[in-house]
Amino acid sequence: MPNASQHRASRDGFRPIRVSIEFFPPKTEEMEKILWSSIERLAPLQPKFVSVTYGAGGSTRERTHNTVARMVRETSLKPAAHLTCVDATKEEIDSVVQSYWDAGVRHIVALRGDPAEGVGHSYRPHPGGYAQTCDLVAGIKRIGDFKVSVSAYPEKHPEAASLDADIDALKAKVDAGADQAITQFFFDNEIYLRYRDKVRAAGIDIPILPGILPVQNFKQAANFARRTGASVPYWLAARFEGLENDVETRRLVAAAVAAEQVLDLVDEGVEDFHFYSMNRSDLVYAICHLLGLRSQAPAKVAVKPEAKAA
Ligand code: FAD
Repeated sequence: MPNASQHRASRDGFRPIRVSIEFFPPKTEEMEKILWSSIERLAPLQPKFVSVTYGAGGSTRERTHNTVARMVRETSLKPAAHLTCVDATKEEIDSVVQSYWDAGVRHIVALRGDPAEGVGHSYRPHPGGYAQTCDLVAGIKRIGDFKVSVSAYPEKHPEAASLDADIDALKAKVDAGADQAITQFFFDNEIYLRYRDKVRAAGIDIPILPGILPVQNFKQAANFARRTGASVPYWLAARFEGLENDVETRRLVAAAVAAEQVLDLVDEGVEDFHFYSMNRSDLVYAICHLLGLRSQAPAKVAVKPEAKAA
């Protein structure tokens, strides 16, 4: 941590901070409303891109496509569609990729995905599908001149034999054409900084965007972390201790915790952030404000007026 006499980059108002924001496709009409009101609030901040996750099963996948296609049609946001190799042939995946291209989408987040039976079961590639993420990345690049983002795991993916093996997997994705990586969320910045150094030492030079999960609900975030192999430091648990039934204080603490994390990363020279928004805008909006982002003139961004009127 810098001491008081050291220069703190996070206090310079002119740093070129770029953000991207992740959403998931809504399941119900009510969730749909929450998502679109969040998008409307966050869009004027002009995120570099927004991404929409992809689930297992046909209806979830359709929701991803519909959400991304609506973003292209009705907003000036640049959406990235997540896509996995799970339970699909190469032809099926290629046709999804082609339909994204036809809809005007130019950025895909390429993933292997989790087994359809759920996390913890062993993954078996579809016999006619893309066996690994690097194959998917190459397949996407063959179809169109997409920007391709991939995942990265500062605390290693739970299935990877070691962090080095995981970095080899990242290298294979980069060799197949991946343009940037987005990390699994982490709470201890040292973990990200050490990982970034290791990745650079392995000769990987694509941007490694830190994935930030603003903690809206500590219990939920801790469960999430357990499933993804992210560690939860004792001090984070302590920050939220005793606030289970105090929503208002929890919100203030959540904002303070997220601010502490991102500003510390700015002090370390980080200029790009990817936020796991959980489809909520308030915390992400506040953090972006702290990072120096301001709403741009509505004519340039946000939901297009003709779409609003419809
Ligand atoms: P990879 O990076 O390809 O592999 C991860 C590690 O596991 C590598 O080290 C690899 O070598 C190792 N590995 C892979 N297969 C095996 C194997 N069979 N045996 C041993 N080791 C193996 N999931 C979704 O379903 N939808 C989403 O939209 C989605 N978005 C995500 C976005 C981000 C930024 C991140 C970080 C994750 C996301 N996930 C998503 C979760 C992701 O699908 C899971 O973590 C999945 O288990 C791995 O996919 P991957 O592409 O990250 O794997």
